[in-house]
This record gives sequence, C-alpha cells and structure tokens, in this order.
Amino acid sequence: MALDGKIQKKKIPLSSPDISQSEEEKVLEVLRTRHLSQGPKIEDFEKSISEYINIPYVIGVNSGTSALHLIVRSLGLKEGDEVITTPFSFIASSNCLLMEKVKPVFVDIDPKTYNLNPSLIEDKINPKTKAILVVHIFGHPADMNPIYEIAEKHGLKVIEDACEAIGAEYHGEKVGRKSDAATFAFYPNKQITTGEGGVIVTSNPKIAELCKSMRNQGRNVNGDWLVYERLGYNYRLDELSAALGVAQMERIEEILEKRKSVAENYLNELADIPEITLPFIAKEVKMSWFTFVIKVDMDKRQKIMEFLHQEGIDCREYFPCIHLEPFYKEMFGYKEGDFPIAEKISKETIALPFHNNLKSEEVDYISVKLKEAIRLLKDV
Ligand SMILES: *Cc1c(COP(=O)(O)O)cnc(C)c1O
Repeated sequence: MALDGKIQKKKIPLSSPDISQSEEEKVLEVLRTRHLSQGPKIEDFEKSISEYINIPYVIGVNSGTSALHLIVRSLGLKEGDEVITTPFSFIASSNCLLMEKVKPVFVDIDPKTYNLNPSLIEDKINPKTKAILVVHIFGHPADMNPIYEIAEKHGLKVIEDACEAIGAEYHGEKVGRKSDAATFAFYPNKQITTGEGGVIVTSNPKIAELCKSMRNQGRNVNGDWLVYERLGYNYRLDELSAALGVAQMERIEEILEKRKSVAENYLNELADIPEITLPFIAKEVKMSWFTFVIKVDMDKRQKIMEFLHQEGIDCREYFPCIHLEPFYKEMFGYKEGDFPIAEKISKETIALPFHNNLKSEEVDYISVKLKEAIRLLKDV
C-alpha cells in the first residue's frame, strides 16, 4: 500500500468545484467591465441552458431554492393547497411549499432508486391536491411516465426539482423538459456551478413571464423600470456568477463524463462486497452523477463513517428524512414510522467523496479504507 502513507493524512473532501483557469479569467473580465448585474451574461447563460435542455424559456436566479419558490408562486399555489412530494430529499424541495403555506404531502420512496414511488401517489390525492413535486435524487431520474399519467388523470401540475440532475435522461430525453416547470441548481457541489445560482426552465410562456417578473421585485417584464405588478423578490443572478455558468456550460459534456468515470471507478472498486449496496441505475435512465451514495447496515454506519473520517476521508449521511425534521413534526404531526422505506434508507446511506477531479488513486484509497472498516466491524 505505497499510497497509504502519501494520502493518509490528507483530507479528501466530500466535494470540490472544478473551475478552470479560463473560467477564472472569464469572471475577471466581467469584473473589469464594471457591469456586475442585469447585463449580457445572464442572457448568455439562460440561452446556453435553453439550448442544452432544448426548452424555450429559462430564467436564471440566485439559487435553486429561489427557483423552486418562484415556480410555486407562478403556479398560484397557496394556503389550503396540497402538493405531493418525497420525504427523501434536500429540505429545499419541500420548504419551497411552506414559503407559500402550501402543505407538503409526502409519499414513501422506491427502495431501489430512492425516488418518489408513483404507485403510492393516488391514495394521497384529494380535492386540495394541486401538484406533484418530483425530485430526481442523486441525479437518478424519477419514474416520470406514471407520474404524468396520474397528473393528467387528476388535473394536477407537475414540478420537477432537477437540481441534482442536469443532463440526466429518462427514456432518452433530458429531464426537466416535459413538466409544467423544472429547476436546476448551481451550488459548488452540483455538477456545474455558478457559486450560488439556479434556473427555472419551462415551455409555458406565462410561467416564464411571472418568474422573470418576480425575480426582479415584481417589475413589469417589458422594461418599465418602476412599474411593480405583483409581489416580487430580489432573486437575481449576478453577472460574475452568470459568466462562470456560461463557461461551465461550454464543457458540460466533459464535466458529466468526468463524473461518470469517477463513479465507474467506485463501482469497479466496490463491486462484490456483500456489506455494501451500490447505487442502482434503472435501465431506462442515464444518470447525471451528483454524488456517490452507498448503503451499509444501519447499525454499522456510524462506526464506518468515524473510521473513514479518522483516515482523512470526508463522508456524510445523505439525506435525513424531511418529515422528521423537528419543525415538520411539530407543524404536521409527522412521526417515526410514517414513511418506513425512506426512514430505513436514510439510516443506511453514506455519501462518499465525489467530484470531477477525484483521482483514481483517491478512489482506490477510499475503497481500501472502506473495506478495512467493514472487515474490522465484522470481527467484533
Ligand atoms: C441543491 C438542491 C436544491 C437547491 O439548492 P440551493 O442551495 O438553493 O441552490 C434544491 N433541491 C435539491 C434536491 C437540491 O439538491
């Protein structure tokens, strides 16, 4: 193990953004123009996403959470309405509903893909139900066809939180195109980054116009500077961030390929270890690798993570269930046992270090240490 000594004390971070020198320069160029907000870069960035996803309207905002909030508002969802969604996600996918006093109604997840289980949706539909908010967790698309069928049958809107899934495909088509509206996000741990940032994508011109107005204080989008037509926010994406986004989008294929090859390294290194469940990939999907999440025995997870931390390897529980966050329990009376599959999986998962430039030696090192942890725990 010649590598052990070299890497052992070095900390391998959970994630790390991949910013090239030319990307640094492009941000600097914008800084030098002194045109730092509401300039040409935001439009370039929106155009690049629009072409990549092949969708007519893209609205850039300052975070994925802002993007989700604007969709909730532009669909007119309000107090008394219910939206069906998943408890196994980053909390923003559900908090965006609380911002408008809309009730998130959770359904349990598919034990393999960890995405919302379509067969459980119809039981939760009642006259208050207005939409289904789907999350493509860890970059694996949810099973959308049955979801669209249910939505059509019951007259529900579909919102896609694709914040972890830019470039992922379902039956050969990129996610985010076919719902009423979808979001992508660009925090530094995402596939591409703008620092902070997000976008709404939609084919509906009305939703697009509302989102565009509301990101900018509710101003009339036709340019009358001081005409406010509705309640809005400052959710604008600045030009420095947008310039970084434009440059990152120029090499999105390369970035997604790099991530895929890191994932493949892990899949090879960790194959055939009965104590580890590797990420499942359904045959109808193309992953856009966001994180690399494995599953282990819940009684051993804590010890395994402590061991990895001691060896300089960052790793994390991903995700805690949203319905068990204290304020959700208090507001809605959710409790342990409500969504047993999501709860079990959230006690078993570990996100391992994962980013574009994770070297194969690092993947080897992490895998060796993981196997060591499992072996040590077997003996006790
Ligand atoms: C990253 C992410 C978001 C948006 O996060 P921001 O930090 O606000 O950009 C929303 N939903 C999911 C599932 C995410 O992973």
